[in-house]
Parts: sequence; structure tokens; C-alpha cells
Amino acid sequence: MDTSDGMKIGTKCVHSGIKEYEFGPVVPPIYQTSTFKFKDADHGARLFRGEEFGYIYTRMGNPTIEAMEDAVAELEQGAKAIGCASGMAAVNLVFLALTSQGDHVICSNTVYGPTTSYLSQLLSRFRVETTFVDTSNLDEVESSFRSNTKVVFFETPGNPTLSVTDIQKISEMAHSRGAKVVVDNTFMSPILQQPLVLGADIVVHSMTKFLNGHADVVTGIVVLKTLEEYQQFRKISNLVGGVIDPFNAFLVHRGIKTLEIRMQKHCENALAIAKYLERHPKVERVWYPFLPSHPHNELSKKQTKGGGGIISFELKGGLESCKMVMNNVRVWQLAVSLGGVESLIQHPASMTHSSMSKELRLQAGITDGLVRLSVGIEDVDDLIWGLEQGLKFA
Ligand SMILES: *Cc1c(COP(=O)(O)O)cnc(C)c1O
Repeated sequence: MDTSDGMKIGTKCVHSGIKEYEFGPVVPPIYQTSTFKFKDADHGARLFRGEEFGYIYTRMGNPTIEAMEDAVAELEQGAKAIGCASGMAAVNLVFLALTSQGDHVICSNTVYGPTTSYLSQLLSRFRVETTFVDTSNLDEVESSFRSNTKVVFFETPGNPTLSVTDIQKISEMAHSRGAKVVVDNTFMSPILQQPLVLGADIVVHSMTKFLNGHADVVTGIVVLKTLEEYQQFRKISNLVGGVIDPFNAFLVHRGIKTLEIRMQKHCENALAIAKYLERHPKVERVWYPFLPSHPHNELSKKQTKGGGGIISFELKGGLESCKMVMNNVRVWQLAVSLGGVESLIQHPASMTHSSMSKELRLQAGITDGLVRLSVGIEDVDDLIWGLEQGLKFA
């Protein structure tokens, strides 16, 4: 039993998943081994028959990996989790486990670009069809269900205009039709939002972002609500591979210890910067869920504990202004990805969302004048000063 049972989430971040190990280390050792010795022939046979728990081979389970998986499962209030090689490997595992030929998926039209392409270009080859809708609009979701709909998949807040989807309402709607709800909780982390508690069935993360938080690994995870589902997913994970390795699991687990204080700082900094931008004469509009001007502010405050670290804003001067800002900011680094301790700036239309058609981009609110920020944990005065150095040229 973890020392964090029954404790508050900040304590869980520090203690979850950690077991007793030989020599009594405070931190789980990195079991950098591909395989594990059996005590004797019967022991090996019992492990393979599933009659006794024990590690066999690292693709199927490893103590360093399991410690991290248990920490994330506990923070999300799930039963068990499966660490994956990347966020996209986690997305792939979910769809391979939940869909078969002839099934239908409903997916938000603001999910991560490669998730959209995975569904529309890859899963479609196996005759699994996806309808992309604005999941913040419940009527649109409702009218998209078919008798063969198996999964509703979304991110909330969505990327990059941070539209918010009602997890509880969509879960009720999906369950009454026999479909499962999968939430990509990357933008919020379990500190700000716990989809399983709100009724969702499965959570996925790109742990590359906030969970690890230090921009030094690419990893993902799938969190399951029940042990039965976990066992079903684990069998598939054993077949597809794409699992996390022990060293990356160790790094993510280390990152999780500071997750609560990092998220608090991301939220505090982002809200202050969103307010500064909203007052700025060169800025047309700001998208941040905890600003009263955001169209989903009320739902966001009900469903989440904070607005998170991501802000998008539109410059009055369009593309040319965006370039001037990106090329002249200080402190902020011009790079994609998000959720690390360092602040990043990027331009969705020409970078993260450049593979979308212009029409679809505009439908999703991604104009040429839109800039996305991932707000880090630096001092907010320096971050505002650094942005102003770019905005002077906008
Ligand atoms: C980055 C990201 C992913 C993909 O994760 P990788 O670790 O890069 O494979 C999926 N969903 C969201 C919301 C992301 O931001």
C-alpha cells in the first residue's frame, strides 16, 4: 500500500507509486533490465499462467515503469495505467483496444493534429470511420451518434482556442448509447482536471508535456478505470509494443513529484499574462479559459481547478506581426510542444496546425494572426517584459 493513501493530491505527487525496494532507497531504482530471472521452472510457469504476480520481461512490465504507472493512476483516480513510448503510442493503444472493423468514432475537431490524422488517414484504412465535431456543442455530439459508435474522444480544453467540453454531460450521453468516453487530459494534468471522476472511462496523456514537465522526454500513458479493462489493454499493449522504457519512466516519476506546485505556478503566471495581453493595444483577442471573456469560462470554472498554462492570442497585425513578435521576444523560446518549466511561443497556422486546410483552420479559430504560448514557471515580471520586447515590433 502506498504511503499516500487517503492523502491530498500534493502529498500523492510526492509519494504515489513508490514501493519497498532492496536496500531501502527513497527513490525507485532504475531497473534497466530487459528480462527477470525465475526462482525455478515451476515459478516461471506460474508467472506465465498468471497464477502468481511477478516480472517476466520489460515489454510486459517492469518495477520502475510500474511505480510511475501507479503514481499516474492514483493521481487520476484510476485502477491501473500503461506507460507508452509517446502520447501518440497511447492514442494508438486506445483505438486498437476499443475499435474493430465497421465501428464508428466521434472525435473533437480541435484534437492534437496527429490524432486527427491518425483517425482520418490510418484507422480509416481498417474501416473505422470517424466523425469530427465541435464537442463543446452538445447538440452536435448528440446528432453524430450511430448504432455502431464505440468511442467519443476529445481534449478539453481544446487546442489552440481552448474550447471546453462538458465531460460529465458527454459521458452520460455516450454511456446511454453504449459508447466509451476517452479524454486526452494532457493540457490539464490530474491536478486541474480528473476526467474519470467526472464520468469518463479512459484518460490518455502525452507525458511529454506537463506530467514530466521538463521538456526532456517523449512519453505517454493510458489510465484505465477498472482492473478488468487494464488487463484487456495490457494484453494488447504486449502485442503492439510501443511501451515506455525504465529510464524515461524514472524521469517522469521524478517530474511528477513537483506536478502540483508547477501547475499552480503555470496557472498563476498564465492568468496574469492573459490579463496583460487582453489590455494590450496590439492584441485583438485572447483565448484563456479562466478569463471571463472566454466563451466557456463558466464550464471551465466548474470542471477544472485552473486555466492551465496555455494561452492563445490574436494580433491585430496578422501574420507579419506574429513574425515580429516571435523573432523579437526575450526569455520566451520559439519552439513547439508545451508543458515544460520553460516558456515557449509558436505560431499554430504555420507550425503545429500547418497540415490542416486553411478552411478547417479558420473553422477551428486558427487565424494567421494567432500566437500560442506555453507559459512556464519563470518569474511573471520577466515573462511579461520578455513578451513586451516582441510586442513593441508587432
Ligand atoms: C503532444 C500531444 C500529444 C502527442 O504526444 P507525443 O508525446 O508527442 O506523442 C497528444 N495530445 C496532446 C494534447 C498533445 O499536446
